[in-house]
Amino acid sequence: MADQNTHYDVLIIGQGASSYSAAMYVARYQMKPIIFGAIFGGETATGGVIENYPGYPEIDGFELMLKFREQAEKYNVPIVDGNIVKAAKLVDGFEVTTEEGETYRGASIILGVGRERRTLGLDHETEWMGRGVSYCATCDAPIHRGNTVAVVGGGDSAVKGAVLLGKYAKRVYIIYRQGSFTRPEPINLAQLDASSNVEPIFNTQIVELLGDDGLTGVVLSQEHNGSSKLTLDGVFIEIGADPRVDLPNQLGLDLNDVNEVIVDKAGTTNIEGVFAAGDLTDASGDLKQTITASAQGAIAATSAYAYASEHANSYETQAMGYSLVEVD
Ligand SMILES: Cc1cc2nc3c(=O)[nH]c(=O)nc-3n(C[C@H](O)[C@H](O)[C@H](O)COP(=O)(O)OP(=O)(O)OC[C@H]3O[C@@H](n4cnc5c(N)ncnc54)[C@H](O)[C@@H]3O)c2cc1C
Repeated sequence: MADQNTHYDVLIIGQGASSYSAAMYVARYQMKPIIFGAIFGGETATGGVIENYPGYPEIDGFELMLKFREQAEKYNVPIVDGNIVKAAKLVDGFEVTTEEGETYRGASIILGVGRERRTLGLDHETEWMGRGVSYCATCDAPIHRGNTVAVVGGGDSAVKGAVLLGKYAKRVYIIYRQGSFTRPEPINLAQLDASSNVEPIFNTQIVELLGDDGLTGVVLSQEHNGSSKLTLDGVFIEIGADPRVDLPNQLGLDLNDVNEVIVDKAGTTNIEGVFAAGDLTDASGDLKQTITASAQGAIAATSAYAYASEHANSYETQAMGYSLVEVD
């Protein structure tokens, strides 16, 4: 049970693979963690069938994350469902604030807030979410049985999404601005090649979303089969994601040129007591997966444990009533 009067050892921000893995490790070090997260399971939970997480030859991502959560609950880790909107360094520790204005304090932070999916930036895109526009093939594919849909993008997520949609929809277009796909996993590409109802349209972008009260089609940057208009029941946008930098910026974390939080191999950031893990960070280069995020969560937890051990004396002082003076 989350308690605003408890002084937690580690405030873990995120409810994805990196955060649950961190929570489990922190709890096993016999420290007190607490998890905050807006969306249960993060990207793994909506990423579809996972075939590359060791121990599970094939498992739905949502089910895998339920297992992560169950394992954390076994150690009685309190879970607060909701966003953290503010994170501040105090003289001795940190304070985070939820959207509802609740504050929680702790000796250190592990950030696992992942990435925000990119949008096309077209008119009606946000307005028609759930009315033909989607960012999650796994969530919405079943409602497109017998329909004609398009996936926008050319990376692994786009290819994986198109394969899944091909199992429900009558026809799937995969629209990509480049001339060939960008490094999808070969096994996913092979599945795409085997999907007879999926057709790539390369060197093309969507320039307009058509419809009245929801999506009915798109206008392409160049003609396809003699027309620049494509009639569609749905469009799935899978064009990548950017690290969520709001909390890292509030805490003064160093970012690299693509806005990933810079961590060393121990998950340590430039701010003492703040650790980071998973897709938010530069820890595993382009390989951003459930297994890498989980491993980095475990590593960050171990570093938080070492940090707590090094600061054992000041920590005792904090437990007796630490200062609430914010540090710039
Ligand atoms: C379509 C798709 C398919 C994929 N398929 C696979 C696959 O087959 N195999 C594989 O290994 N990987 C796959 N991945 C990648 C994998 O899902 C990610 O690498 C993994 O989810 C990263 O975990 P994470 O904990 O770093 O971040 P995330 O899973 O993104 O979790 C971030 C968490 O932080 C929370 N959050 C964000 N902001 C705040 C805030 N301010 N306060 C509190 N909480 C916040 C979010 O709600 C979320 O719970 C796929 C990804 C996508 C998009």
